[in-house]
Amino acid sequence: MPEPYWPKRRGSFRLSDAGAGAGYASIRCTCCKRQRYYAIADLLTAFGDMECDDVVRVTGLRCRNCDGNGALELKVGGPPRDMADVAIQRKIDRIFYVRKIVWKDKRGV
Ligand SMILES: [Zn+2]
Repeated sequence: MPEPYWPKRRGSFRLSDAGAGAGYASIRCTCCKRQRYYAIADLLTAFGDMECDDVVRVTGLRCRNCDGNGALELKVGGPPRDMADVAIQRKIDRIFYVRKIVWKDKRGV
């Protein structure tokens, strides 16, 4: 389940708005130029309906290729037609839910 998220501005462009027009968004590393295409439905599942600009800033996404040295940028839209065969799509494989226990002290047994 995604973390609770509240947009900072009214009328902001969210993932649900992007999903209505385009099915994909690309996230590109500015350092190593690696680019991956994500289905917007997957981004909605993972992060909830957040502003498109906040996806790379808030969610803690990092480039796996250069260990997070580069900044990421998100663009809405799929690959160009001539790149459709070689573009790499990243899909959700599994989602793990972590169960944390918080202990509380109480006097008397
Ligand atoms: Zn990189």
